[in-house]
Parts: sequence; structure tokens; C-alpha cells
Amino acid sequence: MKKILFATSEAYPFIKTGGLADVSSSLPKALAELHQDVRLILPNYGALKHNNEINFRSEFRVGMHTVRLLETKLPDSEVIVWLVDCPEYFGMNGNPYVDEAGDSYPNNAERFALFCRAVIAVAMNRIQHDWKADIVHCNDWQTGLIPALLSLEYQCPQTVFTIHNIAYQGLFSGLMASVLRLPMPLLSQNGLEFHGMISFIKGGLVYADKITTVSPTYVQEIQTPEFGYGLEGLLIYRNNDLKGIINGIDADWNPENDLFIPQKYSINSLQNKVINKIALQTQLNLPLDENVFVIGLISRLVEQKGIDLVLDCFPALLSLPIQIVILGSGNKDFEKQLSQFSAIYPHKMALSLGYDESLAHLIEAGSDVFLMPSRFEPCGLNQMYSQRYGTLPIVRNTGGLADTVVDTLPNTIKDKTATGFIFNEESPGALLETIKRAVLLHSFPDIWIGLQTNAMTCDFSWENSARQYLELYESIE
Ligand code: ADP
Repeated sequence: MKKILFATSEAYPFIKTGGLADVSSSLPKALAELHQDVRLILPNYGALKHNNEINFRSEFRVGMHTVRLLETKLPDSEVIVWLVDCPEYFGMNGNPYVDEAGDSYPNNAERFALFCRAVIAVAMNRIQHDWKADIVHCNDWQTGLIPALLSLEYQCPQTVFTIHNIAYQGLFSGLMASVLRLPMPLLSQNGLEFHGMISFIKGGLVYADKITTVSPTYVQEIQTPEFGYGLEGLLIYRNNDLKGIINGIDADWNPENDLFIPQKYSINSLQNKVINKIALQTQLNLPLDENVFVIGLISRLVEQKGIDLVLDCFPALLSLPIQIVILGSGNKDFEKQLSQFSAIYPHKMALSLGYDESLAHLIEAGSDVFLMPSRFEPCGLNQMYSQRYGTLPIVRNTGGLADTVVDTLPNTIKDKTATGFIFNEESPGALLETIKRAVLLHSFPDIWIGLQTNAMTCDFSWENSARQYLELYESIE
């Protein structure tokens, strides 16, 4: 049994801005089910949501700061969660990384450097709690300094660093090296330095024993200039230690026992799915019509997700016999343009700006197809949720989308492997043509139900992925 400390900057249901939060609760739970001693550690944000009891564990110093370690459990599990409490850095209510205007907090480098040092104190058993990690599993740039600083320690745990999105690198002015008291040996070009800046993600990519990312296709992509954001050379150099492991999806995302939707359904009662469509239309003031083709989209509204491609498809898209339901928040310009279209086409388009877990489940259950025209997508979760809900994903051929969706073609219909619709070119025209292809096929109920059945029987469970992580931990010498 391995002692695994899983370090992350967000975890569902405590705090979530994206897929990292889902992975950070599902993977530790799946590892615990494989009988590993796994503990989760994250900052104690002011906005953290919790119902379970929280207990004080210990108090220790990190630089000039006094840090308290609090303990709770992941809901519906026995996984222990440690919260790094430092109110002057994490006490604010709201998003963990950015202020209300969407700008990064000016002290993010100090905040996450402190978090990394606190994780190291815990992992090395320096706070007298009689638990020393065998493995520290780090996630994204916020935890990048952990492998770097641990590399200077004697008898340190082994480290794994997972890239959930290489576009976010934690780049800060070179002057921060002294503010953060980063040791000289870490500061060279072969260390944390990146074009005169300090790169937190490089801490993971250079110093971790193993590097993973969240799909086999994204592993290949990040080794190219198009997707590597300047780190492709380093990743090619570390190729032997680099592996792609696709994320699974959590059991909460299942139409058979989903507590957020008015009508549960399964592969054997697919006819009940339409009740959720009517509920969705009712909730969002769209005309009630059980036959209309409903397109769902839930996303951070950023360029990565191809939101501009969708906008460029309007109004041609809105002239088709469809309804489109969009839930998201992000780029203010995208929010404004989407609002303008929804005001012009209220009978065809419903927009909900903000974050809404319950509406997200209803959209998955009530839509016919789900749109993910991402420019790049390390793994993506909604295309897998969608398949489990019999809501066929329309995706671009990239990253985890390419690995988890099988395009509907004559041969894949025949051999019962088709589960969605894929387009290659990063253009509104290609997206629109693919949506039209789906609308056309929707008018053949027998074929459509076949596709839904294929999609709903795919295995996206975490168990398979957790086993691959465990094998990786065990492979580190
Ligand atoms: P990313 O991590 O790049 O945002 P993923 O597809 O990996 O993309 O994960 C996104 C997760 O966040 C999914 O669980 C999705 O349902 C959820 N999500 C995104 N935006 C919203 C929103 N506005 N309301 C509710 N859930 C959202």
C-alpha cells in the first residue's frame, strides 16, 4: 500500500473552476478503493464549501506565516482531506485564482509558493503527525514548486506531476526568485527559469520523477510547437517519463441516479429522457417541444473552447430547426455577444451566465447533442458525461475528445462503435456542417437510438484510470 499525498488547488465539491476539481476528488476516491492510503491536500479558501466536520490538526511556520493544517473528509468517502489554512493568502471569498474583474491576484506566486512549502512540510512528516508520503502527486502549475523544492531534500518522497492544461504555466517576473526565497540551484535554464521569468510549471516538468497528462493524444500534441506553449522541447527531452492517462468520470454523472434531474432514465428507459428536455425548456423559458433538436453547451467561455467558432456560426445555426442552451462564464466579450444573440432569438436560444451545477446536469439529461468545438482539449469531461446521458457529443478532433468519441460514419454505425460527431478543421463552416449532419441523422430514430446505446455503454469509469496511475507510482525506482 502506497502513502499518496494528492496536492491540488481545487477539488469538487469544496471548490471548482474546471475539470481539475473533478479529477481531484474522483481519482483519490478511486485510489482509495484500490486500497491505497491516499490523502488530499488543498488550500483552505474563504469560498470553500463543506458540510463535514473540520478538525484542527497542527500549526506550523512557513517563512513569515503561521499555517494551520485542518482535517476533514471527502464527502461520501473515507478519504482524508487536509486544508492548508493561511487566511491572509486564501481567506478571500470568490475564485481561487482571479479577482472579480478576471485578473490574477497580484500575490499568486507567494500564495502558491506557500501552499507548495506547506505540502512539503506535510509530505516530509515535519509537522509531527506520523505520516510520511511515499508519493506526492502534484497537479498543474500551482503545485509545480513541490517537485523542485523536494529535489533538494534528503530522503524525499517520489513525485508525479500531472498536466491538466499546459496553457496555464504560472509565469512570474524573474525578480520573484528572491521574494520567494527560491534556492539558487533551481534557478537555471535547466530549472525554473523560462525566458527570464520564473515558471512554476517547469518545477513539475523538470523535477518530477514522472509526468502525466490527461489523454494519450494530448501527450503527443504537447510535444509540438502548436500545443506545447514553448515547453515542447523539455517534454520531448522527458519523453521516457511522460505518459497519457485518460480521466474517468464520477458516479454522480449517471442518469440512473442523478439527484439533480427530474426524471431518471437508463438505456432501457431512454423514452423518459424527453421529460428532462421539457423540464429544461420550461426552466429556461424556451418553447416546449419534445421533438425539437436541442443542443447543449456547458463551458468556460474562453477561446480554447471554440466559443468564437460557435458565435461565427450564428445566425446560420439559429436558422436551423434547433434550440441551443448555453451555460458558462468567462470572457466578458463572449458573454456580451452571446447575450445579444439570446435577446434576438429568445425562442431558439437560452443563455445562463454563471456557474450552476444543477443546471449542468439538467442540460446533459435534456439535450440531444452536446457541443465541444475546442481548439485544444487536454481531456475534457463533458463529452464523456454526455455519452453516459445518451446526449451525443459534437467535438473537434483534438486531445481527449479524439480519444473518447467515435465519429458516426457508415462503418461505425454498422459495427456499433459510433458515439458522436467529430470535425477536424478549426472553422465555423466545419462546425456547422457537422451540426447539420447530426440534425439529419436525428430524423432517423432507429439509427439515433443505436448511437445513444453505443454511447451509454462506453466504460468511462475511474477504476481503469486509477489502476494506470497506481502502476505508474509502482514503476518509479
Ligand atoms: P476545463 O477543465 O478546461 O474547464 P473540462 O471539460 O475538463 O474543462 O471540465 C469542465 C467541468 O466544469 C465540467 O464538469 C463542466 O460541467 C463544468 N463546468 C464548466 N462551466 C460550468 C458552469 N458554468 N456551470 C457548471 N459547470 C460548469
